[in-house]
Amino acid sequence: MSIERCDAVVVGAGFTGLSAAQELLRAGRSFVLLEARDRVGGRVEARPNGLGEAVDTGGQFLCEDMPELMALIKARGKTLVKTHVEGDFITQPPLPRDGAEQTYLGAMAIRERMNGIEPDDPDIAGLTVAAWLERQGDPAEAKAGFRSMIEGLWCQALERIPLWHLIDNDRRIINEQSELQYFLAETMQSLADDLARDLGGRLRLGTVVTGIEHRRDGVRVLAGDRVFEARSVLVAVPPMMASKLAFSPPLSARLSRALGVWHSGAVIKILVRYAHAFWRDRGLSGMVMWRSLPGLFACDVSKDESHPALVVFIGGPLALRWNGLDGAALRAEVMSRLVAALGPEAGEAVDFCYRNWIDDAWSGGAYSDLILDVNATDAEDVLLAGAPPVHLASSELSPSFPGYIEGAIVAGRIGARKVLAELEEQP
Ligand SMILES: Cc1cc2nc3c(=O)[nH]c(=O)nc-3n(C[C@H](O)[C@H](O)[C@H](O)COP(=O)(O)OP(=O)(O)OC[C@H]3O[C@@H](n4cnc5c(N)ncnc54)[C@H](O)[C@@H]3O)c2cc1C
Repeated sequence: MSIERCDAVVVGAGFTGLSAAQELLRAGRSFVLLEARDRVGGRVEARPNGLGEAVDTGGQFLCEDMPELMALIKARGKTLVKTHVEGDFITQPPLPRDGAEQTYLGAMAIRERMNGIEPDDPDIAGLTVAAWLERQGDPAEAKAGFRSMIEGLWCQALERIPLWHLIDNDRRIINEQSELQYFLAETMQSLADDLARDLGGRLRLGTVVTGIEHRRDGVRVLAGDRVFEARSVLVAVPPMMASKLAFSPPLSARLSRALGVWHSGAVIKILVRYAHAFWRDRGLSGMVMWRSLPGLFACDVSKDESHPALVVFIGGPLALRWNGLDGAALRAEVMSRLVAALGPEAGEAVDFCYRNWIDDAWSGGAYSDLILDVNATDAEDVLLAGAPPVHLASSELSPSFPGYIEGAIVAGRIGARKVLAELEEQP
């Protein structure tokens, strides 16, 4: 067994762990960043498509209203690509143009009304989003649009999401620009790689943390036959993953209950490459929302004229339904939907690649974990308090943009500040 000693250990090299590591580096502290996978980035990932082009198969989009991510991109000299949104937006089954717009506006009106409710309003105690929606007097089309939007964005059935949690979460997502405004020509994964490069030997890939022994004066972080002794640990993994670690002594009943109420949803991301952006010729944006298949959404993700592409997201219950399909059957399902929406040229893809995040060993399966217990109103605060010297951080726990890359950067910095404050206290 090998034992290493340092000031702090960070577990998980997603954007939360990477941003925490940058802070520890700046503060001149000794630390290691332990990552289970053979790469950094976590839920941000790039893989080669069938043409050998690196494509973002995980987190990708951002907008000007995400200040920390925008600043990082600028500092690292990355190239922003503006997402093509000009042209008509299509709904399936089709609605007349103003009908599609009415549906969207109706869905947004429901979302705004929901966010106007105080999360601790006793009138909504115990309600799921579905139960609340049922009580609303909006037209069926607007309700279907709202369901599709929420199940697509949060990747969970409305029947499972506590209303107070969705309100609390959504209120922190404050962009006015579309969250699909930009993506990076070099891939978002390349930004994670840049941050990792600064860390040199402090980064340990392929290092699965299985347990944490903790006392008031320090921690022992266990990873196979390696032990890392430190004064503080920042567990920068999604709550569901943190709940799988063996803590010794066991965490308090309150903290382990608070960890246990988080669950990940389901998402499959698909990238379809074309030889030509045929939808633009017909005045279409390439954006499609399937009313009859909540959680299915497509938009233009062409890097430039010579890389025309659509991205298709399958989120929530639909992703769980299609999870059992093999690659060929999934391709057939998706391509037939694209052809129905955009015409026969949509069937002439030059490449189709997909990343199924469901059951991913290290992230759970979706953009983010959600609290699925209607009564667990203190779960987030309990995790944020942690059990010093064990601290928890992840995008889910961010005061701004939870579930987004921006949120991960903010959460990582907050986590690092807690660790640094603790190191200051103990000479
Ligand atoms: C398909 C998809 C599309 C998305 N699209 C967008 C988007 O367009 N824009 C956006 O802003 N966000 C998007 N997101 C969400 C965004 O990617 C995440 O919110 C963010 O990257 C989470 O960062 P994190 O560091 O908190 O967690 P993670 O990225 O999950 O990082 C946690 C790390 O911990 C590691 N780990 C877990 N357990 C252990 C262990 N026991 N030992 C060691 N290491 C461990 C994991 O391997 C992982 O690397 C998307 C996510 C997905 C899956």
